[in-house]
Amino acid sequence: MNDCLFCKIVAKEIPAEIVYETGRTLAFRDINPQAPTHVLVIPKGHHATAAVLADADDGLADEVLKTAHAVAVLEGVADSGYRVVFNTGLGAGQTVFHVHAHVLGGRDLTWPPG
Ligand code: 5GP
Ligand code: ZN
Repeated sequence: MNDCLFCKIVAKEIPAEIVYETGRTLAFRDINPQAPTHVLVIPKGHHATAAVLADADDGLADEVLKTAHAVAVLEGVADSGYRVVFNTGLGAGQTVFHVHAHVLGGRDLTWPPG
């Protein structure tokens, strides 16, 4: 069976605080938030990385980005500014291999810091 953590969240086998949902995407709060708003946006179907998602060529990457923006609006950070991050691969610190966009906002996120 599928042993993927985020597939289990989609299947409601593991609880998560869901903030938004579309037909093919799900948005839920990160368990270890790095900003006042820290929401993960995933496609409900399993794709390991952003690279795999980009190759899927069926509009799903577009839907993930649209969901990320909808989350920013719902969370009230769309105007102040927010960051969307896909850690892609081990060298970038990806730890869960079901592609997810981190939507971060609610604090100063200017980059590089300082
Ligand atoms: P990555 O390091 O792969 O880019 O991000 C994985 C994210 O998933 C981390 O920010 C981590 O806090 C979050 N995470 C790991 N396990 C769970 C979980 O069981 N539930 C939720 N909501 N987030 C999780
Ligand atoms: Zn998965």
